[in-house]
Amino acid sequence: MPREVSPISAGLGCRCPNCGEGPVFKSYLGFAPSCSACGADFSKADSGDGPAFFVMFLVGILVTPPVLLVQIMFDPPVWVHIVLWTPVIIGMSVWLLRPFKSILFALQWKNHAEEAQWESTGTHGK
Ligand SMILES: [Zn+2]
Repeated sequence: MPREVSPISAGLGCRCPNCGEGPVFKSYLGFAPSCSACGADFSKADSGDGPAFFVMFLVGILVTPPVLLVQIMFDPPVWVHIVLWTPVIIGMSVWLLRPFKSILFALQWKNHAEEAQWESTGTHGK
């Protein structure tokens, strides 16, 4: 019996949600066509916009308090905020996107999520 792989641990490690061993990415954000360890098919992997949403949400929560703190303590001109926080926001977003994408794919894998499909009854309009 294959061991149960946690989607969170597989996702955080960017590992195969089926076996927890093989890498799930072939490039920074591109899914591999299949697992190199167990052969699981990743061709239908599509986490859509979910990872970007969660990363934006988290980065916004994490960055807002220090931005407000710097504003309240030093009252700097706007360009200081732009120079200071733009690389932080971009860096955190790029860093977090990969594990979030992998976690959402692992959750889809575990829950057998797929696109909704219409089931035709053949009686429509009759
Ligand atoms: Zn695998």
